[in-house]
Amino acid sequence: MSKAQSFSRRGFLRRSGWWAATPLAAPHLIRSGDPLAQPGQSPRHIIMLISDGMSAGTLTCADHLSQLTRGRGTVWMELFKHPRAHVGLMNMRSLDSMVTDSSAASSSWGSGSRIANGAVNVLPDGRALKPLYSILAEAGWKRGLVTTTEITHATPAGFAANDDSRGSAENIARQYLERRVDVLLGGGQKFYDPQKRKDKADLWQEYRAAGYCVMMAADDLKKAPPDQRWLGTFHESHLPFTVDHVHDAELMAKVPTLPEMTRAALARLEKENHFILQVEGGRVDHGCHACDAPAALYDQLAFDEAIEVCLEFQKRSPETLVVITTDHGNGNLGLNGMGKNYADSSPLFANLKSAKASFDAILKKLGTAPEITVIQEVIREATGYSLSESKAALLVPFLAKKGETLYDLMNSASAQLGQLLANHWGIGWTGNAHTADYVNIVAIGPGAERFRGFIQNTDVFHKFLALAEIDFKNPEVPLKAKMEPNPGRHDAIAWHWRETHSA
Ligand SMILES: [Zn+2]
Repeated sequence: MSKAQSFSRRGFLRRSGWWAATPLAAPHLIRSGDPLAQPGQSPRHIIMLISDGMSAGTLTCADHLSQLTRGRGTVWMELFKHPRAHVGLMNMRSLDSMVTDSSAASSSWGSGSRIANGAVNVLPDGRALKPLYSILAEAGWKRGLVTTTEITHATPAGFAANDDSRGSAENIARQYLERRVDVLLGGGQKFYDPQKRKDKADLWQEYRAAGYCVMMAADDLKKAPPDQRWLGTFHESHLPFTVDHVHDAELMAKVPTLPEMTRAALARLEKENHFILQVEGGRVDHGCHACDAPAALYDQLAFDEAIEVCLEFQKRSPETLVVITTDHGNGNLGLNGMGKNYADSSPLFANLKSAKASFDAILKKLGTAPEITVIQEVIREATGYSLSESKAALLVPFLAKKGETLYDLMNSASAQLGQLLANHWGIGWTGNAHTADYVNIVAIGPGAERFRGFIQNTDVFHKFLALAEIDFKNPEVPLKAKMEPNPGRHDAIAWHWRETHSA
């Protein structure tokens, strides 16, 4: 149990209670320090795009894969050459660790304050922080959240919600309604469904009663009325990985892609005087937790198409600031030097072109005790890799959950499948969890120059508010990271993946 979880939700709601329909308190407690917008700097629209869990190697490999599959590099890398784009690096550490999770990361942008991993905009002492979307709403800004994960997942939640545990998805679904977030598109039907919710509440009905258009399928999105608020949940849990999605006609008909949801959200919000839209490629992270290169890289390319949609919008509406980043590295995949003079690296990497299924899908087919020939056949069909009998046999104990590895973190069927397929794609992994890497950030549009150089995660909140000409600061507490060496064995292997990512 994390420290944050030991505080009751009721307790912190009672202690804070800022959202009880009170206007933004003025004068504000502390000046944020970021100078307010200068003439020509004030964006009317802000779009923040987040590829969740994207290491530098993911960005590089996605650019190479884009060349192979689309005949051009990624839009993200194109922006590095754009004369008006500003590029920086950002420190994403959380309050209690050099390695952040997605909720502390998003909360740092959403509140301007570092919090402990596992919480959403709540300090370890239980104080709730006022989220960016509540502050902007009071200033008349409309707000949208678009993601490929459950809509209640950590990254979108960090912009709009408060909870001492990121796992409280049912509560977060209700908070979005209470706070009237204007556009909500992603997965996570189960957190709205009266048959599945613990409290049996019919949130779909409650959203409808509050004037929302409630959508469940890609077709609904095409005819959604532009004058209503939107709730679109297109899958029970997370939306499918792109590599599975594009190879399944039925799924393609039912579930919209990230660029499609992004385009629809922008069309809905375009008429608003001010809006902020968060767009998350949320499953790049899940692909990396699984050491699954095709899941991560094809989702990164779908995310890149969403960037393109936003830049097209910016051409029509130049008073739009577009900020593109990730919340942390994950697995730090990289194309390795393979063979004599590394001559095998490029052709091995090109094998990614024929990948047809995620590791999730492969492992589901394999089950826990398949015949060796079945392992060979399933992997050949999904990836094109002709596995030897002896290599296939190495996977057997991990499928049966009886395997043993030298590096504890990699003791899972999925991580070992990633090691095995490193022979076929040339792609290796440092692990299957988040990393402390400083992350890439690119901005273009009015105010973009504020995001260049080396910045802290919490700066993003202050820059957005300064550009919206709002002076506000949430409370902060000192960093709690232990920097002394720990000779003992760490006790929470793959905490993040096992505790927070089960679909
Ligand atoms: Zn993660």
